[in-house]
Parts: sequence; C-alpha cells; structure tokens
Amino acid sequence: PSPLLEVTNLVTHFHSRTGIVKAVDGVSFALRRGEVMGLVGESGSGKSITGFSIIGLIDPPGRVEGGSIKLDGRELVGLPSSELRGIRGKSISMVFQDPMMTLNPMLTIGTQIRLALEAHEDVSAAEGRKRAIAALRQVRIPEPETKVDFYPHQFSGGMRQRVAIAIALLHRPKLIIADEPTTALDVSIQAEILVEMKELVAELGTSMIWISHDLATIASIADHVCVMRSGKIVEAGPVLDVLTRPKHPYTQSLLDALPSRAKPGALLARGAGTDAAPPPRLA
Ligand code: ADP
Repeated sequence: PSPLLEVTNLVTHFHSRTGIVKAVDGVSFALRRGEVMGLVGESGSGKSITGFSIIGLIDPPGRVEGGSIKLDGRELVGLPSSELRGIRGKSISMVFQDPMMTLNPMLTIGTQIRLALEAHEDVSAAEGRKRAIAALRQVRIPEPETKVDFYPHQFSGGMRQRVAIAIALLHRPKLIIADEPTTALDVSIQAEILVEMKELVAELGTSMIWISHDLATIASIADHVCVMRSGKIVEAGPVLDVLTRPKHPYTQSLLDALPSRAKPGALLARGAGTDAAPPPRLA
C-alpha cells in the first residue's frame, strides 16, 4: 500500500540580510498508516521546520523552496493557502510544545472546541458542547461537564496540553505532528502524556510524527526514527536498529550523551515500540 505521507527532497530556507539559513536541506522519508515516526536531533537541526513545512505554517522570511510533500498521494507543496487551511486541523494537525499555541486565553475551552469543529463541519451549539465534553473525556480530563466552561488559565500545564491534544484529535486527522509536546511539562506529567498520546493514536489508527531532542522519549513511542542534523536526515530506520546499532557517528554521539540508565538496552528493555511503557527519566 502507498504510504500516508511521502516527503521527498524537502528544502525550506529562511532568508535574512545576513544570508540564507538552510533549515531543512533535502529531507526525504515516508510514513505508513498507523505508524509513529520519531524525528530526533539537537536543537536547531530542523525538526520543527520540517513539521511546520508539512502543515503549511512557514511564513516569510521562511519558504519551502522545493521538494514534494504528498498526503495520501496529494501534493501539498504549492497548494494555495486557502486549500491548505482546509487540510490543516482536519487531515493533519499539530500539537506544540506550548499548548497556548493552540489555545485562546480569552475563550472557554467549550467555545474553542466548538469553533474548531465549526471550521470544518456544521454543528449546533448544543451538539458542539456535547462534542467538547466527549473530547475532554477522551483525553482523560476529569469532570469534563464542568471543565468545558473553564478558561485555559484555570488548567494546569498538563491539563492544558491535554486540551490541545483533544483539539488536535477533534476531526480524526490522518496525521498528527507532535512537536516536543511533553518537553515543557513537569517530569511527573511527561510520562503520563506520552503514554496517553501513544494509546490514543493507536486506538484511533492515527499516524504520528513525534519530534523530540530526546532519544529516550523517542525510544518509548516511535516505531521508526529519523535522526536529523543541520537540516538533513543522517540516519533512519526501525527504532530498535537505530538505537542499538547506530550506523552514523552522530547517532552514536547522541547515544553516548545519554546517562547510563537511559542507554538503549535499558530503553528498549522497557518496551520501546511495543506496549505503552513510561519513558525512563533523564537526570
Ligand atoms: P529544531 O526544531 O530541530 O530545534 P528548527 O526546525 O526550529 O530546529 O530550526 C532549524 C533552523 O532554522 C535553525 O537554524 C533555526 O535558527 C532556523 N529558523 C527557525 N525558525 C526561523 C525563523 N523564523 N527565522 C530564521 N531562522 C529560523
């Protein structure tokens, strides 16, 4: 079967007075239906910009210069923004490190979920509220009938991220791009959110690109992994192979930098790519 997402030779640059930053410099990969792909690399390696390019969030001075992004065989590069908006949030959605990238501080959660629904379908106010409560319940927010009337600031960081995840899942997207969704959370909440997202995408059959600078997190959630450095993918493969038998010295250097209790043997013994297992905590 054809892959859900096929990215070929993607190039995204930022233009400034001092020159060009080649944020994404010829990236290619394919994502199968239901697969979770990890995109790992140090800060500045081009992971977020790869995600933003796929969902069409590159604004000037950035530009997708070339390459191809096919979702279900349909080319997204070069689509007018009006058409991309129809795909964004519906077929592809994104969960950001900061949930306030998704949430509006001035509106109740119920209103925001209804507006997100209305962007792609006709819903009555009563139906919108019902769907909002169900969406909150799905991401395990307790007492959703009450919480639906809360404003974002009335939630903890972890609960805010759960709301953002609920909004990302609202239209049952084919693909979720999760950009370091646990990085800014308290350590105790990080593992919970990671396990919940893994369970939710498995249950819904959603494909996911999980972006992280942290190999330990990737080991807990991804089936396949692409290792990025300076805008390029230097190594890719099943997470087990890449983390136990890295071929590229850069991947090895990322592994060497992990504390010993988070080394691949320890990571993979905890069930990377199989059952939901909490990620090992890093010092
Ligand atoms: P990562 O997600 O791996 O930390 P990014 O994809 O955010 O890295 O960034 C890749 C490169 O693109 C970096 O060199 C970064 O400085 C550059 N970049 C990202 N956003 C902008 C921007 N708005 N303007 C100029 N350069 C940018």
